[in-house]
Amino acid sequence: MPNAFANAMKQFSTAAQYLEIKPEIMEKLKTPKRALQFAVPVKMDNGSMKTFEGYRVQYNDARGPFKGGLRFYPTADLNEVKALAFWMTIKCATVGIPFGGGKGGVKVDPKKLSTKELERLTRSYVDALQEHIGPYKDVPAPDLYTNPQVMAWIMDEYSKIKGYNEPAVVTGKPVEIGGSLGRDTATAQGAFYILSELVKKLKINPQKSRVIVQGFGNAGYHFARLAKAAGYRIIGLSDSQGGIIAGQGVSFDPESIMKIKKDKGELHGYYCVGSVCDKVDYKQVSNGKLLEQDCDILVPAALESQITGKNAGRIKAKIVLEVANGPTTPEADVKLNKKGIVVAPDVLVNAGGVTVSYFEWVQNLQRFYWTEPEVFSRLQSIMVKSFNEIWQVAQSKKIDLRTAAFVLAIDRVSKAMAVRGY
Ligand code: GLU
Repeated sequence: MPNAFANAMKQFSTAAQYLEIKPEIMEKLKTPKRALQFAVPVKMDNGSMKTFEGYRVQYNDARGPFKGGLRFYPTADLNEVKALAFWMTIKCATVGIPFGGGKGGVKVDPKKLSTKELERLTRSYVDALQEHIGPYKDVPAPDLYTNPQVMAWIMDEYSKIKGYNEPAVVTGKPVEIGGSLGRDTATAQGAFYILSELVKKLKINPQKSRVIVQGFGNAGYHFARLAKAAGYRIIGLSDSQGGIIAGQGVSFDPESIMKIKKDKGELHGYYCVGSVCDKVDYKQVSNGKLLEQDCDILVPAALESQITGKNAGRIKAKIVLEVANGPTTPEADVKLNKKGIVVAPDVLVNAGGVTVSYFEWVQNLQRFYWTEPEVFSRLQSIMVKSFNEIWQVAQSKKIDLRTAAFVLAIDRVSKAMAVRGY
């Protein structure tokens, strides 16, 4: 997304109006501490060499080590990674965990690589970046099209370089090598805690609420599953191939859809298997049209810049719950706010992922592991507390929830910078 960083800076300026921050600190927050772009050479299965472009942006570490995901994505670029690293800085401060913000990426379509090529790509990325990452420097994690297996290769490659096991260099690992219980569903679980608080405040009845989820990756799928289990009606879903909308009175079961997706590779095949095909009423829609369908809660859980100045006027939901990073542009925010649509911002809603990453890091450093109920109860208290703090700021300053989250976060980051002597 070419405008991602410009969008992030607009959100920053909007919030800055409500804060008294020294201009020097403001200025520093507009530039990452370090933005790395480097070659990631990979030996392909046919013996040839291919070089991919790699990035790691270390935005701000005033409150702790840089922290943020690594994406393998065909359109990844430095501008986008910079925006995402800035958002990580805001996100970690929003939920008060002791990390700064960073993000990484490789411009690659991992679906076109074999498993062996993917492993060599990951190891090559770590080799290029080894001096800049580490448990007390910068701790990567999964993001778009990376997963626990990729994190395991990162941990292994880094540990080989160091000559000892260093699980705390990366989070989102498989549990066998120090991953935290609950990390795989943490983003969705955190988003679900936020939705639960928000519907209470807005006096919305979950049982009567229709939910549309754009994106059926780790976060989108688990969120849809949790929402369905709590009684919400899931009436729309999509993956990168397109979406499905349920007919009148019908709602989807995300778990059985996932089963079909695994078999057939796409959601579209969902109902047209066996007898269900003629029993359930649904229609196919594009990802763009999915967002504009009538519903109560719209959950963008895929990519950046999905709700823009162009389509914001056609959004019919009461709540936009941002599970993806940066799904709503600043122009769209203005329009949604005017229409009275409540936007629950990404830096709060999807912070469950990095919060459980923080728990994983703590467990790794202490070599002392928690039970899943412990993980979720600590996650819930952080999410609920953060939600209430933001709600309070929004009410008292009469501002939207995103601006309130930014106000709270920028205040924390800038105070850390100031007290450290910047
Ligand atoms: N990629 C996730 C995010 O955008 C997780 C980051 C992390 O756990 O460090 O929040």
